[in-house]
This record gives sequence, C-alpha cells and structure tokens, in this order.
Amino acid sequence: MIKIALYGKGGIGKSTTASNLSAAFAQKGLRVMQIGCDPKADSTQNLLGGRKPRTVLDALREKGDGVILEDIVEEGYRGILCVEAGGPTPGIGCAGRGIITAFEKLEELKAYERFKPDIVLYDVLGDVVCGGFAMPIRGGYADEVFVVTSGEKMALYAAANIALAIGNFKNRGYASFGGVILNARNVEREEELVEDFAREAGTQVVKTIPRSGDVQRAEEQGKTVVEAFPDSSMAREYLELADRVLKICEGGRADV
Ligand code: ATP
Ligand code: MG
Repeated sequence: MIKIALYGKGGIGKSTTASNLSAAFAQKGLRVMQIGCDPKADSTQNLLGGRKPRTVLDALREKGDGVILEDIVEEGYRGILCVEAGGPTPGIGCAGRGIITAFEKLEELKAYERFKPDIVLYDVLGDVVCGGFAMPIRGGYADEVFVVTSGEKMALYAAANIALAIGNFKNRGYASFGGVILNARNVEREEELVEDFAREAGTQVVKTIPRSGDVQRAEEQGKTVVEAFPDSSMAREYLELADRVLKICEGGRADV
C-alpha cells in the first residue's frame, strides 16, 4: 500500500489535483482511497458526482460508537473509496483534533485491512501545520508528501512551512518530501520561482499542471477532468502526473 499526502495553501488546487490523481490511478487499475482532511469536506465531491459524503465526524456525532465503515466510506468514480474527515461543530472543538479523531476511527474500524487499497491519498490543508493537520506527515500515515503550489508568494510561503514540518519529522523516520506539484497561476517567472523553492527544500518539481478551463467545466458536472474529458490534453497532464508520483513512491525521481 502506497500512502501519499498532498499539502498546500488554501485554494491552491489540492482537492482538484488530488481527485484527478485518484481518478488517474483508478484508470490505471489501482484501488484508490482518497481521504479529505479539511473541515469543508469537499475533497472527494468531484469523484461523487458533485455530492459530499457523510463525514467521519458527523457520523460520530450522530451514531457515536455505532459507526460502521459503510457510514463513512463511499465508492465514487471507478470504485474510488471516498472518505471525508469533516470538521468540529463551529466554535467548539479543534479542526486538527478532529482529524486525529477521524484517523483513529478509520484505524479502529480497520478500513485499510477491509478495503485493501493499493494507494491512499490524503488531501490536507497546508495553511496551518498544527499537530492535527500534521498527522498524515507524522503519524506514520503517509510515506511521501507532495506539496501543491503556484509561483505566488503566499502559496510558496505555505509550501515552505510544510517543508519545515516534513523536515522536522523526517529524522524520526516519518514521511519524506516526494516533491512539488506546480499548479500554474501563470504568474511571472513561475517555473523558475518554484524550481528555486524545490531546490532549496532539497526536493524536485514533479510536474507543472497548466491552468485550464476544463477543470471548471468538469467541476460543473461534478466530475474530474479525467472522468469528464478523458481524451483532453488536461487529462493527459494528470495521467502523466500520476505516473511520476508512482515512480517517486517506488523510489525513483520524476525525471528519470
Ligand atoms: P481548499 O484549501 O479550499 O481546500 P484547494 O487547495 O483544495 O482549496 P481546489 O478546491 O482544488 O483548491 O481548487 C480551487 C479552485 O481552483 C477550484 O474551484 C478549481 O476549479 C480551480 N483550479 C484548481 N486547479 C486548476 C487548474 N489547473 N486549472 C484551472 N482551475 C483550477
Ligand atoms: Mg480542498
């Protein structure tokens, strides 16, 4: 089982990248589980026809100890197993703590043993790297962390914070930095800025994903680009990204 976490600044394109990656992995015949770790719980909606599944925390609030896996794991596009951690009641509780609770529940219910995914993808907000949001890095959950960024200053700032968190935990045998995914915003010298960042962080740019209206057009149908426009050049970008991510997880570099 390969375990990947995708981090990045709010709104940078993590969930879009994550769900298109999941769809691309599924097209390649892999059994995929995508876990949204954002209180908005919108990570997997484009794998579920635009619907949001019941979150782990909502299920816990409603059913307490009676929660079963069927309450919190829904099958989407090509059987992708969709999970959303969910968030605390607004004003009460802590989102990071909520993620820990959701992860513990998945383990307790033996979600990984039961569904036996080939690949698990965590989609995580990167603006806050508190204990809860760092769980996929530090809890032994993910093997490789990929950071989604553009060349914009605030996106690179968040990426740098995530790189620090990865560095802090790496020495203890936790997740390593798989690389940077450049989700283009078409700012000036974007590739150069992101290449520089990756080099300084001791990692690589896995791939540049261009900006494309196909993303919104697919979203309007509640789908990923890979599902909605399988023959488009944008779908090929995500399939190529999936190949490179797999190669890195198998111990190689993106460009070899
Ligand atoms: P959040 O932190 O709020 O969860 P996010 O990082 O998951 O945000 P997304 O929801 O994936 O970001 O993307 C934000 C918006 O940007 C989406 O509505 C999507 O349509 C658009 N978007 C993402 N990537 C691209 C792209 N490559 N081309 C065009 N639009 C994109
Ligand atoms: Mg998101």
